[in-house]
Amino acid sequence: MALVIRNVHLPSQQGSGDEGLWNVHCQKGRVVRVEHAAQSSRRLAPRVLKLPAFLRPGRELDARGKGILLPSLCHAHIHIDKCFLLDQCRPLRSGSFEEALKITSEAKTRFALNMDDVYARGHRLITESIANGVTSLRAHVEVDNIVGFDCLDIALQLKSDFARVCDIQIAVFAQDPLFDDADAASLGANHDLLSRASRREGVSAVGSAPYVEHTPAQQQHNLSAVLALALARDLHLDLHLDYTLDPATPPLLPILLEQLRQTHWPAHRKVTIGHGTRYTLFAAADWDALDIGDLPVAFVALPQSDMYMMGRTADQARLAPRGTLPVPYMAARGLEVALSVNNVDNPFTPQGSADPLVLCPLGVAIYQDATEETLRTLLVRPGPWIYQKCVSTAAKSSVGLGAREALLRPEPGAQADFVLLHDNASVRSAVLDPCYTRTTIRGGVVVASRRGVEWGAWQARKTAPAYVFGVPVRWDIWIVFWVVVGLWGGWRVGVLLDA
Ligand SMILES: [Zn+2]
Repeated sequence: MALVIRNVHLPSQQGSGDEGLWNVHCQKGRVVRVEHAAQSSRRLAPRVLKLPAFLRPGRELDARGKGILLPSLCHAHIHIDKCFLLDQCRPLRSGSFEEALKITSEAKTRFALNMDDVYARGHRLITESIANGVTSLRAHVEVDNIVGFDCLDIALQLKSDFARVCDIQIAVFAQDPLFDDADAASLGANHDLLSRASRREGVSAVGSAPYVEHTPAQQQHNLSAVLALALARDLHLDLHLDYTLDPATPPLLPILLEQLRQTHWPAHRKVTIGHGTRYTLFAAADWDALDIGDLPVAFVALPQSDMYMMGRTADQARLAPRGTLPVPYMAARGLEVALSVNNVDNPFTPQGSADPLVLCPLGVAIYQDATEETLRTLLVRPGPWIYQKCVSTAAKSSVGLGAREALLRPEPGAQADFVLLHDNASVRSAVLDPCYTRTTIRGGVVVASRRGVEWGAWQARKTAPAYVFGVPVRWDIWIVFWVVVGLWGGWRVGVLLDA
C-alpha cells in the first residue's frame, strides 16, 4: 500500500536554506522518494491529467503547508500496569514517595481480582499514546510477590494485540526490594520471581529500583544481581537508579559502570538509567570523572515524576529545586539522553498525560532555554537537536530500538514511521506549543488520526446546534421550513375558499 504525505515541512530543512514544502512517498513500509512539493506539482501538469483521489492508488495526506512531519514518538520509559490508578486509591496526603509506594501496593493487591481492569488501563494508555504519535514504547511491568506474573501476562497480551500498530518492548521490573527484610543476607522471593519472569518469551529487558533496599550493601547487591540476570538472559538492562537529591547518599552509577566493564557488557544490549536525579548535584568535575566511554549507556529523564516527587521540604515558603536530569547539558557533553513520561494518573505522578510532546514545552521551562539562537542551533545541528529527538529518535535509541543518529530528514529506504503535526509549521512551534491534531504513521500506514473540533460564539456563521424534540436543527433552516409551511398552508386555505 502506498502513502504520499504532501505539502509538509521537514524539520531537517528548516534554517538550512532549502526550506519550502515537501512530498514524502512511502511504499511497503519504507520511504521511497522525498521531493519538493513544487517539483511534484510540475510533474503532474497539465492538471487535467491528475486523477481524482478515489481513482489514485494508495492514500494521500495533504498537510496543506501547515504541518510538520517528525519521526514518530517513543515512550522510552512508561509503566503500563499502574497507570490510570488514582480513582482506585485512597486520597493522597503527603505526596511522598513512601506514601505512593504504600498506596500503589494496596492497589496492586486488587489486580488479581480484576484482570480485565489491568488490561483495560494498559489498553487505554497504549491507545492514547498512539493517537499522540507514539509507535514504540518500553513498558515496565512489575513482578513481585504481590502481583506475581499477572501484570506480565497482561503486558504480553497487549504486546500481541497491538503488534500491527506499535512496537512494545516489555521490561520486567522489581519496584519492591529483592531482599525479604533489612537483615537478609541473601536475595529473597522477589528475586526468584524476577529471574523466572526474565525467561519468558517476549521479554526484552529486566530492571529494578536498588534505592528501595534497606541498606547500602543490599542496594549494591540488588544492582549486581539484576545485571547478572540481564547478562544471563541476553536482555537489555533498565534501572530506576539514584532516585534521590540527598548529597549524603553516594550515587550507584560509578559502581554500575565498573561492573559493566568487569562483566564485559555486550555492546548490542542497552543499559538504560531512569530518573538519576542524584546527578543533578554533580559539578562539572563530577561529570568529567564519569567514565562511560563506549559503554552502551543511556539516560532517561522523567521530569513529570522527578519534579513532583523530588526535593520536598516542610518549609513551603521555599520551592523545591528542579530535581530532574539536566538534559541539554548532558546532550552537549555527548551523553545519550532522552525524555519520557514514566507514569500517568497514579500516586507517583498524579498529573500529566500520555503525550510525550508535552515534555517539550515543560523542558523549555525546566532548562530555561528558548532563545532564538539556541532554537536555530537545535534545528541545524544534528547532535544537540534535543527536545524533539528526546521524545523520538533519541528515545528509541535509548531503549535499543534504533540508531542514535537516525536522520531527521526521511531518506529513501528509511522506515516510514512518522507523526504529522497538522498545525505546527516549524520545529520551534512544535517544541513550544505542540498541536492537538495529529496523524500517526507506522510502516507507511496511517494507524491513528486525531482531529480537534472548534466552535466559538464569536463565529457568526457557525451556530451551536439547537434541539427540537431531541433532533439537532439549524434555526435558519427551521425558519425557512415554517415560511414554506405557512405559504403552503395559505395556498391550501385559498384553494378551499375558492372551492
Ligand atoms: Zn519508572
